[in-house]
Amino acid sequence: MLSNTNDNINKTEFMNHYSADPNKFEAESAEDILSLSLKTFAPKIAFASSFGAEDVVVIDLIHNIHGEKTRVFTLDTGRLNPETYDVMDKIRDKYSISIETMFPDYMEVEKMVTERGVNLMYNSVEERKLCCEIRKVHPLRRMLKTLDAWITGLRRDQTFTRSNVKKVEVDVSNNNIIKINPIVDWTNDMVWDYIKKNDIPYNKLHDKGYPSIGCAPCTRAIKPGEDLRAGRWWWENDFHKECGLHWSK
Ligand code: SF4
Repeated sequence: MLSNTNDNINKTEFMNHYSADPNKFEAESAEDILSLSLKTFAPKIAFASSFGAEDVVVIDLIHNIHGEKTRVFTLDTGRLNPETYDVMDKIRDKYSISIETMFPDYMEVEKMVTERGVNLMYNSVEERKLCCEIRKVHPLRRMLKTLDAWITGLRRDQTFTRSNVKKVEVDVSNNNIIKINPIVDWTNDMVWDYIKKNDIPYNKLHDKGYPSIGCAPCTRAIKPGEDLRAGRWWWENDFHKECGLHWSK
């Protein structure tokens, strides 16, 4: 029934479908889930993009459905790579969309850097998480407070911490808003086939061995055979490496 994306359903009906069976959306395609979600939640639904390979695919999928109404936001931590800004502008130009850019609170950043140094992330896991909290999580929460649903480019096989992510979830760490993960069951090959086939601009760091791209001080290229997320916070031994954006489970 949910595959009939010509039907509009309201937020309550969407939630009722989810509550009745949280796995109900698992058989739906990325396009169908996005179509239904956009019809249900627009304009209070937006895609959180860090402009990695998965994210440019999701932007294209949304734009095919929603056109100029496509809402994309990003977290500019102040520590991004130049290549990320390059692809951000290319995406903006290709689709003629605005990129809603969230910056951290300057007073929080000033206090943190003054007290702990600009590269505090290398001091300890706690200080790295503090940096992520101030530069990423707080701006994300500020945006999510304005939305009824957010969309991500998460994939299950990126890392084992994401292996149980569902296509539709209730984000318990963000006021129980709906979280849509339309390409969670895609493989890395599917992502790159889509990018090439549709000639989508992508972050050139991917050509230099970066499968996963975050802030410049915390991301490196990986070696052949390494885990796809091995280049993120590589100096930490903790296997549960995340920045706090996706701690809903
Ligand atoms: S990824 Fe690194 S630089 Fe970016 S917010 Fe987290 S600790 Fe700070």
